[in-house]
Amino acid sequence: MFLRAATSFLALAAAAGLSGCDTVRASNAFSATGLLVDGATSGGVVVNDRRRTRDGDGVVSINVGRLSLSSERNETIAFGMNRAPVRAATGWSRSRDTFDLRLSDPIAIGVTNWIVQGPFDAQRTHAFTSCLQTLGIWFWERTGFLLNNCDMRDATRDPDITNAILNSVGGDNRNWNDFSNLIGFDPGRINIYWINTVEGATTTGWSDFGGRIVMGRNTGFELLVHEIGHGFSLFHPVACGGATANWDDTNIMAPCSATREFVTEGQNFRMHFNPASSVNALYGARPGAPTEDCQNAGETAACPAVERRLWDDGAFLAN
Ligand SMILES: [Zn+2]
Repeated sequence: MFLRAATSFLALAAAAGLSGCDTVRASNAFSATGLLVDGATSGGVVVNDRRRTRDGDGVVSINVGRLSLSSERNETIAFGMNRAPVRAATGWSRSRDTFDLRLSDPIAIGVTNWIVQGPFDAQRTHAFTSCLQTLGIWFWERTGFLLNNCDMRDATRDPDITNAILNSVGGDNRNWNDFSNLIGFDPGRINIYWINTVEGATTTGWSDFGGRIVMGRNTGFELLVHEIGHGFSLFHPVACGGATANWDDTNIMAPCSATREFVTEGQNFRMHFNPASSVNALYGARPGAPTEDCQNAGETAACPAVERRLWDDGAFLAN
């Protein structure tokens, strides 16, 4: 008798929606929204980064399946077109839950270009086109970053210019202070020094993993988004010329590429959330927002794998 009663109760509960699916209702959505959801199945199995995507504007309701409280994390990370990723606590119950979260407006980062190697007009166009390329990749890859402007400074006649500034060598330990002390430095912005050669090549650039970048005279327009990626705490996911199961030269952080265009959600999460990212460490661009110290590779309960994709990146499908 008891079993029969329990069964009919479950049937009633299902009919009433008590055992139905949970929902995340995202507001401030623009075109595309994607979620990575942590919780547990109704049977108690930990769910880490369950993927959901949905198109739409304004308020978008996304069915995330049946979830209950996990012994690990109970949260949702939300990404979106022209929106900065956010993380919200979602304490799943055994009933049907609806959690609201609001996608963040994009974060604007200032850029100052110091044109050190002339001719000024040509290199100003080079720098401006690189800014545009960066902005385009950030937009289409749903990073939630904007350039709030792309200032140009004519430093071509600066009397402090030396050969060591025009042709900079030394890898990570190069003459960074020559640039910021002798050429100039705008605090709170990305400072890019457009010179002649970096490590002996006109096509090379370098980041100090902070607010300074040096760029050679003939760098590709897609290199700037790569160097800024280093400043935002990202590393190379592959070696030069290598393609692996998750990476090839189409990713922005591929070294030795001229075809950079894609950003994974694992990378985007790190750019926004890593405390070492200059977004947090130098620009304070996410006041009050949580940070999470994620390793370059690998996955933890709190950090999506760096190769995690909510949407396809060319040949690499959402995973
Ligand atoms: Zn690099």
